[in-house]
Amino acid sequence: MTNNYMYFIANWKMHGNIADINKTSSVTKLSRLKKFKKHKIIYCPPYTLLKNFYNKVKNSNLSIGAQNCHSNSDYGAFTGSVNAKLIKSTGAKYIILGHSENRNNGETDLTINKKIKAALKENLKIIFCVGEQLSEKRKNNTHKVLKKQLTLGLKNIKKFNNIIIAYEPVWSIGTGVLPKNLELSKNVNSIKKILTKSKKSKNIKILYGGSVNPKNAKELSKIKEISGFLIGGSSLNSKKFIDIIKKSTN
Ligand code: PEP
Repeated sequence: MTNNYMYFIANWKMHGNIADINKTSSVTKLSRLKKFKKHKIIYCPPYTLLKNFYNKVKNSNLSIGAQNCHSNSDYGAFTGSVNAKLIKSTGAKYIILGHSENRNNGETDLTINKKIKAALKENLKIIFCVGEQLSEKRKNNTHKVLKKQLTLGLKNIKKFNNIIIAYEPVWSIGTGVLPKNLELSKNVNSIKKILTKSKKSKNIKILYGGSVNPKNAKELSKIKEISGFLIGGSSLNSKKFIDIIKKSTN
């Protein structure tokens, strides 16, 4: 990695309880060590744990993020939903948007664009997920898919200092199958080109997500275009999460 700091974002998905928050103390300790202080370690638990998790880590170098939000920026009659304002009130600073598991549940580029705008309004930092399905990769449509997701998702957005991109090939999420380093850098460079061409940003940080674990972290961290990882399964176990952080920052 050429960057002086890296992101390690734990996506807990629909897992976790209070006891699990207490099991992350070793990560809090690590984040305080001189060697790791500069990196950004972020936990994204379910909504139900945001406030408790924030209270646990507020005096450390860890941050908290949500995994989604409603597209409406104001309060309102949306039973069962949580918007960016409510997320902000828990102490969370980050939010994952556009995750493929939500796209697969019918979330469109237009809705994601609305969610990004609503979250930016609350000054949340966005982790915007993009990535191709296996069938799209097989048809050589990866670039086309990334272009569509980035262009529509970021439509009419001018400020990029609060946006990070997470490139997550859908076929790699939770499968243990990873793109080869060359393919990965090619796709990350595609993202950079798309954003530069559309005058979005040259300097936007791009993370990789998809089956990152302690065994592959070192190799993945050699890809200089990548500024860190969005980690699902392996982030549920503090030992594995710490291993990933250590191996990618050595
Ligand atoms: C994810 O859900 O964003 C993810 C990368 O999951 P996993 O690490 O389990 O593949």
